[in-house]
Amino acid sequence: DGRVERIASTIRVIPDFPKPGILFQDITTLLLDPQAFRDTTDLFVERYKDKGITVVAGVEARGFIFGPPIALAIGAKFVPIRKPKKLPGEVISEEYSLEYGTDKIEMHVGAVQPNDRVVIVDDLIATGGTLSAAAKLIERVGAEVVECACVIELPELKGRDKLGNRPVFVLVQAE
Ligand code: IMP
Repeated sequence: DGRVERIASTIRVIPDFPKPGILFQDITTLLLDPQAFRDTTDLFVERYKDKGITVVAGVEARGFIFGPPIALAIGAKFVPIRKPKKLPGEVISEEYSLEYGTDKIEMHVGAVQPNDRVVIVDDLIATGGTLSAAAKLIERVGAEVVECACVIELPELKGRDKLGNRPVFVLVQAE
């Protein structure tokens, strides 16, 4: 219905950011187009509103932009998954590997309950390391990851493979 094409056209691509050789997909220009931003959240809301989703988990930082409007529209809790040492309460954490070294994400204990049905939201899936660590956090507390939802996928990096059986839904494929 043209919405995905419009969304794709608002994403800015910046070469050599944050370092040489990286083609950075910049969603801040999508946010400058209110219709594209609305269409983005609408497409996710239409997909998840009747699926019994009880939690939208957003991955820092751009999952905090797209996740909350989806959570509000479908009547789900919003749970932030954050970089280390940001959450003030008791946390569980999951380490994952980067090209060089490791990183870690954290979630508050008690935010997600064993009977929760969760959609994890981020702006972009590259290698899938971040979403796979987020999925492990949610599964460790006994909840179900119904789907991972991203605005953009870099398909060449095969991030879906890292997520195994967990479904991944994306709006735009980047080259
Ligand atoms: P992955 O863990 O390799 O899948 O990388 C995904 C994470 O890195 C997400 O949290 C993204 O926000 C971030 N990321 C990687 N590449 C880009 C990009 O080109 N634009 C915006 N975010 C990116």
